Amino acid sequence: MSANSDYQKLRSHLAFLRMAAAAEALPGLLEQATKADGGLSPSAFLEQLLSAEVAATEQRRRASLARFASLPSPFTIDDFDFSAQPRLDPKLIAELASLRFVEDATNVLFIGPPGVGKTMLAVGLGHAAVAAGMRVHYTTAADLVARCHRAAIEGRWATTIRFYAGPRLLIIDELGYLPLPAEGASALFQVISQRYLKGSIALTTNLGIASWGKVFGDDQTVAGALLDRLLHRSVVVNIDGDSYRMRSHRARAEAARQAIGARP
Ligand code: ADP
Ligand code: MG
Repeated sequence: MSANSDYQKLRSHLAFLRMAAAAEALPGLLEQATKADGGLSPSAFLEQLLSAEVAATEQRRRASLARFASLPSPFTIDDFDFSAQPRLDPKLIAELASLRFVEDATNVLFIGPPGVGKTMLAVGLGHAAVAAGMRVHYTTAADLVARCHRAAIEGRWATTIRFYAGPRLLIIDELGYLPLPAEGASALFQVISQRYLKGSIALTTNLGIASWGKVFGDDQTVAGALLDRLLHRSVVVNIDGDSYRMRSHRARAEAARQAIGARP
């Protein structure tokens, strides 16, 4: 009777502490603990009960980090085919994947034409950082600017800038594909300034640094100030090889041509 009421109390403590995984593991572990032929010691019992809860909490934390990161594809750095980009140094990418750059708030700029894997690499670093338990957030430059614009109208500007200042690693994809309105440049400038020396940015762009003025409506002052902060502590990865999409496209076209016996 008393063992039964202890059991009920234990269950209600676990419910009060919201330790659902431990509560679920409890009956099985108790059964093991009280086995006649050398059951669990009290400390082994407690350790196993708590480790069930720790595992569940850890898993929830990972899932919530992954949701917050909003990474647009599942590809990791290991999926990257370096033979497609012979001038890209795999050692440099491996060094980045070690995430030391996040420790000292260094930025990474992936610069190159469309289709060379800039997004894939930035997102791959994002997955590595999430796996290491870091807060990561992915956005395109256009979305960031649109969100800041809406926030300004709705009186949430400061909150939104703080949102982008929060993650350890902020991925800003596709800067330069669309020209930014003046207020867009200023939003981007604010975000980059807030993160300066505090958190890393991984940025992808099709524009060489010399032509950044163009993204900001030829405002060289904003472009200069922004680049100053972005590049002060940074790694620039230039990828100037062939587009991967075009490569497989070319291979398919070639196979089709051979199939019908046509000459290239
Ligand atoms: P970018 O951002 O430079 O325009 P993406 O990263 O979007 O290029 O790459 C375009 C497509 O080609 C994606 O589906 C990507 O996964 C794939 N891809 C590009 N480069 C590679 C590579 N080296 N190895 C494997 N897949 C690649
Ligand atoms: Mg891209």
